[in-house]
Amino acid sequence: KLFDGKVALVTGGSSGIGRSTALLYAREGAKVVVSDIHEESGMQVVQEIEQLGSQAIFVSADVSKPEDCERMVQQAVEKFGRLDIAFNNAGIGGESNAIGDMSIEGWDKVISINLSSVFYCMHFQIRQMLQQGGGAIVNNSSILGQVGFANSAAYVAAKHGVVGLTKNGGLEYASKGIRINAVGPAFIKTPLLSGMGEETLQFLTSKHPIGRLGAPEEIAELVIWLSSDKASFLSGAYYAADGAYLSQ
Ligand code: NAD
Repeated sequence: KLFDGKVALVTGGSSGIGRSTALLYAREGAKVVVSDIHEESGMQVVQEIEQLGSQAIFVSADVSKPEDCERMVQQAVEKFGRLDIAFNNAGIGGESNAIGDMSIEGWDKVISINLSSVFYCMHFQIRQMLQQGGGAIVNNSSILGQVGFANSAAYVAAKHGVVGLTKNGGLEYASKGIRINAVGPAFIKTPLLSGMGEETLQFLTSKHPIGRLGAPEEIAELVIWLSSDKASFLSGAYYAADGAYLSQ
């Protein structure tokens, strides 16, 4: 299997893209650290992983807090002895308003959960991976890490920032055995979209040339591949998984 003997950490692992990726890591032989603020659904993912015959733990952590990000890496190492792979995925949609109407709190919240979190996580993951001589990090950006989307300035700025962090991390650690890449999903059917009405979902679907929204598993497959040695020459780059959304 792709990840036999390896340890993978997923933030936001209780739901959606994070959950699907945690399950695929396990199916490929990894021991998995599922981290999230939602403990109950996270424990369910741990159980599903155990049913697949692999090992997992749940770590309750808020990625907008640096001390939580440090602790999740510590707990991974305490339990499984190492950290080989990290998928920095936790995120929120946030306030929907044009810049002039967006609240300062709304801006700060999305920047902290969707962008600063990725810096905190990478900071502690990289320190551990350097001690082991290498690793692979995948950050979850978005198509909105490449283009704008009305009424989502904080989300768009955060996701562009994740691409910047990925490029910088890639160039700083390429010669030290750590590969760092970003994925860019288009709109994916997860609980993140659950607040949207049928009309909005139809509008979003119409913006995808492939004619439908994506499924979390379709993003997980790309994350798995980028996390594996099959992607040994890939670092510091952004990979869209978007049904041709960005081709327009
Ligand atoms: P989701 O809501 O199903 O999952 C997100 C998970 O992150 C949840 O389990 C939630 O509890 C967790 N989370 C939220 N805030 C957290 C915090 N402060 N600390 C720790 N965990 C926290 O959503 P999803 O669609 O699977 O989103 C995962 C990632 O994918 C996000 O970064 C999102 O921006 C990105 N993304 C989603 C889409 C989409 O259309 N669904 C598109 C592009 C990118």
